Amino acid sequence: MSTPMEFPQLDGAYEEFSKVLGAENVLRIGDDAAERLRDHTLASYGAEREPIPSGAVLPGTVEELQAILKIANGKKVPLWTISLGRNYGYGGPAPVKSGCVTLDLRRMNRIIEINPELAYAVVEPGVTPEMLWAEIQARGLDRELHMDSASSPWGSLLGNAVDRGGGYSVMASRVDAICGMEVALPDGELIRTGTGGLPNSATWHTYKHGYGPALDGLFHQSNFGVVTKAGIHLFPRPPSFRHAEVYISGLDDRVEFVDTLRRLQLNGIIDNGISGGTNYGGHIEGAIGPGGGIVPPPPDMPPGMRARLAFRGTAEIVDAKWRAANDALSELAGYSFNSARYDAPYDYADWTSEACLAAGIPTSRELRNWDNAHYLIFASLLIPATGKAYGELCDMASGIFESHGRIFRAPGFHMHVPRTMVCLISAPLRGNHFVPPEVAAAIDNDESEEIIREVITEGAKHGWIEYRTGTPFMDLVRSRFTFNDGALPRLQDRLKDFLDPAGILSPGKSGIWPGNS
Ligand code: ADP
Repeated sequence: MSTPMEFPQLDGAYEEFSKVLGAENVLRIGDDAAERLRDHTLASYGAEREPIPSGAVLPGTVEELQAILKIANGKKVPLWTISLGRNYGYGGPAPVKSGCVTLDLRRMNRIIEINPELAYAVVEPGVTPEMLWAEIQARGLDRELHMDSASSPWGSLLGNAVDRGGGYSVMASRVDAICGMEVALPDGELIRTGTGGLPNSATWHTYKHGYGPALDGLFHQSNFGVVTKAGIHLFPRPPSFRHAEVYISGLDDRVEFVDTLRRLQLNGIIDNGISGGTNYGGHIEGAIGPGGGIVPPPPDMPPGMRARLAFRGTAEIVDAKWRAANDALSELAGYSFNSARYDAPYDYADWTSEACLAAGIPTSRELRNWDNAHYLIFASLLIPATGKAYGELCDMASGIFESHGRIFRAPGFHMHVPRTMVCLISAPLRGNHFVPPEVAAAIDNDESEEIIREVITEGAKHGWIEYRTGTPFMDLVRSRFTFNDGALPRLQDRLKDFLDPAGILSPGKSGIWPGNS
């Protein structure tokens, strides 16, 4: 590990931060407690080039946050905003550039409101799905409400939503569940988006658009401000729920499989954000092991595809939707399914983790997957939700992996929203425990990173771009936005310089660098 590059302007800054926050809320890299500020999912983890922060500040209130921003502006100290820093595979807690001070918002962890009538909650950055669900249960509101959860229940609800994370339920597109944010601008000024500009707004967390140009999007995947609280839409607990895992064995109908799923989702028959993938004896969703390109599939594993579906409503509605989906899917060669209907009141202990996630129940039963996610890097390309595009992507990725002497079959995919698929093309890192230890030990991390770079670069030639990316690839992804001589990134740069003239917030986030860097 390299020593973090110290910015000369850090001199004295940590003392000033300590005066505001108390020494216990200021960390320096090298302290045991600061180890979690590093990104264990980086190919460069432990190598000379690993980007690491110089330390962290942990404000507990908006006022403390504003005081930190003031000091950072005065001394031109770069901060790197995280809520909890658990966005595995997309940068974790670490900055793009060594030496930044991590602005860690974990102490701001209040659940400000849960509104069962209008189905929303208002949370601070440090609130996890697990915490919100525990509170919903403690208030007896689990009889009325469900919520979207990541497969890791201990990330930040707000952080994941503003970074446009995706889930598995009817509200799988989490950024679309955000309604009404409070944001500290780089100079510390607080704004409220949507109708929140009206001090006593009665619709801040029910109506997104406000009046005049809406600004919410400026703070998604962004370094233009620090989100201090947000309304997150929840949804009613349905009286009945069905989860189905559907399969085709063989790949003859691969194109039709994807097209059928799209049609069913677009028609409102499938209610959830679909997750799926291609089986080659690898891990679920094809994202790890052979899907991730290192060892051949076991000879007895027949190729095929799978997807997870969910249906909500009364028992009659759920049954009718499932019948319609099943009828369409049973046209496909080698179709089979595994499915169960649950009727309220629910006992989630009987449910699989996949069913929990599709209904919107946080679960830690996916732990093992996320532990392994420490040993993967991936590209998450957006492609149109057609079987044809999926097939072309498989061919493109396989070609790239083969040119490195590796194997790749097919990406796992998510259909968080109809019309578009997010396809995960992953390369294992050293230590991956879905591959044999001798193989895992021999993996060249730098080469895995290079493969992902090539996937991003080649993907862009097909018109495919990532929906979200890890810190090593942020500049690369942004550099593909070349329409009209890069007019869009140039506008983002102008906004950055206008809003953050001292260049203190998350330099390099989404490839946006302050003019003074
Ligand atoms: P999680 O713990 O849910 O995985 P993170 O805290 O790692 O989420 O957040 C993911 C990314 O989202 C961060 O790297 C940062 O760029 C952005 N982000 C997180 N929280 C905020 C916030 N409160 N304001 C602005 N951006 C944020």
